[in-house]
Amino acid sequence: MTEHIAIVGGGTGGTVLANTLAEKLGTELDTGAVRITLFNDGPDHVYKPVWLYVAFGQREPADGRRPLREVVDDRVDIRQDYVLDVDHGRRELELQTVVDPVAYDKLVVATGAKLAPEQVPGLAEGAHHFYGEDGAQALRDELLTMEGGHVVLSVVGTPHMCPAAPLEFTFMLDDWLRERDRRDEFEITYTYPIMRVHGNEQIAAWAEPRLEARNVAVETMFNAEAVDPDAGAITAMEGTTLDYDLLVAIPPHTGSDFVESAGLGDGGWVDVDRHTLEATGFEDSYAIGDAAQTGVPKAGSAAHYQANVVAQRLASEVRDRPATAVYDGKTLCFIETGMDDATFVEFDYETPPSPGEPTRALHWSKLAYNESYWLTARGLL
Ligand SMILES: Cc1cc2nc3c(=O)[nH]c(=O)nc-3n(C[C@H](O)[C@H](O)[C@H](O)COP(=O)(O)OP(=O)(O)OC[C@H]3O[C@@H](n4cnc5c(N)ncnc54)[C@H](O)[C@@H]3O)c2cc1C
Repeated sequence: MTEHIAIVGGGTGGTVLANTLAEKLGTELDTGAVRITLFNDGPDHVYKPVWLYVAFGQREPADGRRPLREVVDDRVDIRQDYVLDVDHGRRELELQTVVDPVAYDKLVVATGAKLAPEQVPGLAEGAHHFYGEDGAQALRDELLTMEGGHVVLSVVGTPHMCPAAPLEFTFMLDDWLRERDRRDEFEITYTYPIMRVHGNEQIAAWAEPRLEARNVAVETMFNAEAVDPDAGAITAMEGTTLDYDLLVAIPPHTGSDFVESAGLGDGGWVDVDRHTLEATGFEDSYAIGDAAQTGVPKAGSAAHYQANVVAQRLASEVRDRPATAVYDGKTLCFIETGMDDATFVEFDYETPPSPGEPTRALHWSKLAYNESYWLTARGLL
């Protein structure tokens, strides 16, 4: 009998998993003992980190998009469809475009995160963002034509993708304006919903003096509850209101709709064992990447490491061997600190991050990683 591994989501986690599995289970795929299907709701693989650079006119959205078929091993079937629901009892997926459900033996949820600006009144109409292709382009156009004023960068929703990206954007904006001799025409304010400027204590302690040195005003404990686009104002539930000329917000995020209806977890995030990545309470089901509630940041690097762990576990299970691979929380992240410098952090469940002095070499390393991403995702690097 052929064992069917279904992976839902063809982003970083799902793609790395599909490619790594194809490599590990080459013999079983050749003999027909196993088949792998990657379900994705669009035809392309999207590399989101490019959007940060789109906002500053350095990259185009197309640089972060390639046909999934080019990025995924030929031995993996790709099915373009939206998964509406999972029936764990029957081990079936309900798809949007066909009536008949699809049977699976093993399931991996890798559905990532999506934006939910509608959760805050006025946010969709009043705020720009760089967390999507269209948003990043609109923000770029705004920055290019804006003649000065107050820019507010507000982290509205947590958890969100790439926790460092709002700091990166703020540092880059400051530098981008200085390079153009225009910094004096702008005020910049950074807001964060807790008592510090970042969720992680070490990164917050590293970032705070750097924001101050660049004359960026900081508002912590700022939980945005409404935006008034006509007045150009954002109000926090703590009572503070900030007037803005340009609001750049990190909107609230949710996971894929079926996660909740399938009973896998709340808010679209799948409850998992943070070491084995098995979905809590469900046999033969895993979750990886942004969709998995592991407690580590929603970062592509984490999705990548988790995909490797689940590939090893699934390969062992298919061969009736004990699955022993575990995820240790490893995450790494280059953090841009301007247009030409960056720092780097690496951490796991036991070891906190320790950001160092920014260097030009680390900035170039980040750009080099972005270029080589396509080979990494394909499993060739
Ligand atoms: C601006 C920005 C900058 C970033 N910079 C970095 C960085 O420098 N370093 C870093 O490590 N990370 C960075 N990230 C985060 C990184 O992009 C994500 O953490 C990563 O993409 C997560 O991978 P994933 O596979 O979990 O989800 P995704 O890559 O989002 O893929 C999920 C896929 O599943 C599909 N899908 C969802 N629901 C369904 C469904 N029901 N049926 C079928 N398909 C579905 C989606 O369309 C998507 O294709 C950044 C993110 C942003 C937005």
